[in-house]
Amino acid sequence: MNKREFLKTTGAMVAGSMLQQVAHSEPQMRTNWSGNLTYGTNNLQKPGTVDQVCAAVKSASKLRALGSRHSFNAIADSTHEQISLEHLTEMTLHESARTVTVGGGVTYAQLAPWLDAKGYALHNLASLPGITVAGACATATHGSGLHNGNLATVVSAIEFVNANGDLVELSREKHGERFLGAVVGLGSMGVVTRTTLDVQPTYKVAQSVYQGLSFDALKHHIEEIFSSGYSVSVFTDWQHHRAEQLWVKRRLTEGDTKPWEPELFGARLATEKLHPLAGHPTEAVTDQLGIPGPWYDRLPHFRIGQTPSSGQELQTEYLVPWTHAWEAIEAVEKLHGKIGPHLFITELRTVAPDRLWMSTAYNRQSLAIHFTWKPEWPAVRQVLPLIEAQLRPFGPRPHWGKLFTMPASWLEPSYTRLPQFRALAAEYDPHGKFRNRFMQANVYAV
Ligand SMILES: Cc1cc2nc3c(=O)[nH]c(=O)nc-3n(C[C@H](O)[C@H](O)[C@H](O)COP(=O)(O)OP(=O)(O)OC[C@H]3O[C@@H](n4cnc5c(N)ncnc54)[C@H](O)[C@@H]3O)c2cc1C
Repeated sequence: MNKREFLKTTGAMVAGSMLQQVAHSEPQMRTNWSGNLTYGTNNLQKPGTVDQVCAAVKSASKLRALGSRHSFNAIADSTHEQISLEHLTEMTLHESARTVTVGGGVTYAQLAPWLDAKGYALHNLASLPGITVAGACATATHGSGLHNGNLATVVSAIEFVNANGDLVELSREKHGERFLGAVVGLGSMGVVTRTTLDVQPTYKVAQSVYQGLSFDALKHHIEEIFSSGYSVSVFTDWQHHRAEQLWVKRRLTEGDTKPWEPELFGARLATEKLHPLAGHPTEAVTDQLGIPGPWYDRLPHFRIGQTPSSGQELQTEYLVPWTHAWEAIEAVEKLHGKIGPHLFITELRTVAPDRLWMSTAYNRQSLAIHFTWKPEWPAVRQVLPLIEAQLRPFGPRPHWGKLFTMPASWLEPSYTRLPQFRALAAEYDPHGKFRNRFMQANVYAV
């Protein structure tokens, strides 16, 4: 399938009327990373300084911040104007406070090796490093680990430009609940120009992959399996009542020489490097086979500068309470016949609970059930409501940056702080300058 066909078939829900634009303005076509969404404007601002960000926001009638374009839905879209902070890439380490402050355009791929060279590290990373810190934290992007909160949980301060064009600073230390409401901001508080993150001394990680984990083993040992490393992922295609791969990332301590067991809950230790998507080349994948390496080159599945995952795909993810983890897996497995034909792979991960109002792990230890789909939106669109219906008893929270079809009325009971979030956003953006169609449909509709 070529790019044009891909756009036509996958943009339907999220891009709505934009298909017409694909046909008429192809030379200027601006899409998200996956290519399933054509943005509703060609008006993209790229200021070079924070002052210029303030001026751009002040003069705009409607505006949406854009990160590295890795969201699959229209959360970053605008029909008027977008603003990219890709030129704001300063990074400042505060050794005494054990924090780092990064500009609004900095990606984890830029930050992580730089931080590591100075002897520091972050607590966790997503599967890919090439996303902006601001964009990832805005959507509660996460890695895995029973004790690891999502990436936004180490934010200790943010600076953003509100709808008036004024700079606002909020910190964990000084602003309590207001801060907790603004961090996973979904682009609604303003344009984040600086983010300060907690850092810790650098560390090494080794990862190994096990093959062939039966769902019976997963059912009976789910807690132990997800505790078998600092960060653990289970990959399944939902067929044959088993998972193809179990990825275990171990955080190493000085002199750590603990051998990798040849078998883990019946799964066998792989003897060659594997891609989570069968048949995909492994160059893009971070080293496995237990070879120790820097945290930033093991915690993500994909290496800096390489194409993560498939490249031509769609993604969906739902977070459910850990207390119902197995029941939720079992509920989805019932749809294996409908899911199978359109799926590249599912990844199961864990996320520790947090207090960030709009976080998908707000107040609950979570299992994240992720789907990497083939670029077949018309078919995937039919399957999502079935999965959502199966998960509904568990109060699924969809990833803010991925594709979902559940109505806003389902989100309301899951996010108990939603009314306060709306009120907080209204303080910084009283006339809805930062509100787009996605936010209107999912956060303001009820
Ligand atoms: C291949 C691939 C792998 C992925 N893996 C993971 C994963 O492992 N875990 C996971 O949780 N997610 C994952 N994602 C999803 C991704 O992390 C999120 O969609 C994330 O938000 C993308 O960040 P971005 O910089 O591309 O932001 P965008 O997608 O451009 O924007 C996302 C949101 O952030 C807002 N935003 C961006 N910059 C700013 C700013 N400066 N100020 C205010 N708001 C801003 C936008 O307005 C929008 O609301 C993956 C996506 C892809 C394509």
